[in-house]
Amino acid sequence: MRAALDDLVARRLADQAAIPAFTCYGADTALAVVSAAEEAGLPVILLVAPSAAEPRLIRTLRSIADAAAVPVCVQLDHAKDAALISMAIEHGVDAVLADGSHLPPDANAAFVREVGAFAATRGVVVEAELGSVPGDEDRAEAVEVSGKTDPAQIRPFLAASGAQLLACGVGNVHGRYRGAPALDWPRLARIRAEAGTVPLVLHGASGLPPSDLRRCGAVGVGKVNVNTELRTAMLETLEAGVGPARASGEDMLALTRAVLDKATGVARTVLETLGG
Ligand SMILES: [Zn+2]
Repeated sequence: MRAALDDLVARRLADQAAIPAFTCYGADTALAVVSAAEEAGLPVILLVAPSAAEPRLIRTLRSIADAAAVPVCVQLDHAKDAALISMAIEHGVDAVLADGSHLPPDANAAFVREVGAFAATRGVVVEAELGSVPGDEDRAEAVEVSGKTDPAQIRPFLAASGAQLLACGVGNVHGRYRGAPALDWPRLARIRAEAGTVPLVLHGASGLPPSDLRRCGAVGVGKVNVNTELRTAMLETLEAGVGPARASGEDMLALTRAVLDKATGVARTVLETLGG
């Protein structure tokens, strides 16, 4: 069922829990993720990567979200240009990440403000990112931590941008962590204090230990983005299943079901770890 992302996140944070957002490159991944959310009885977010964003995929995810038995939001992730954002809003996303994190803070805020003015007329929620989360969202390469968010910039940035959710860099990366991940919890606490009522978002949750995920809701992180972990699990299942599928008469259905069951299992574990 359709839901407003800001309301959903606020409700989960009141219970010290966070909502996971999973990147869906196709309809089948979205169906697997929604199955996990329905089994767990918890809300979930379907992310559209900018690399995959096109009208048919967005409309398909919209229809999967609307038909779900639990609240499901569709969000355009990491959008750096207004034309892509307008297209996604036109085709039915509930939220967008207006990503100006590559810009100086003033220009970043101006970009978010401009997107927000349009998004508000369509009831679409806007997330911003300040500081940077290094790495490529679509590739699982080992990444060094860099570009942590400066807590001193939070208050002026939120006032100037009007962002409704804020993604920040606290030692998190897209892709794979080089060495053991070490989130900067003291910095996160300072960011939380400066952000007031605006919920925080943690990108790059793949590879974090469950204890880190369990902590998110209690420290004001209301949304957690997951991509690599889902892809890795699906690819491993696919790899192991290709030989048997070929040997059993090109049984594509059994192979597809095995891959999607794996995705549902991974999504369910993340959902429950973030706060069941
Ligand atoms: Zn991200």
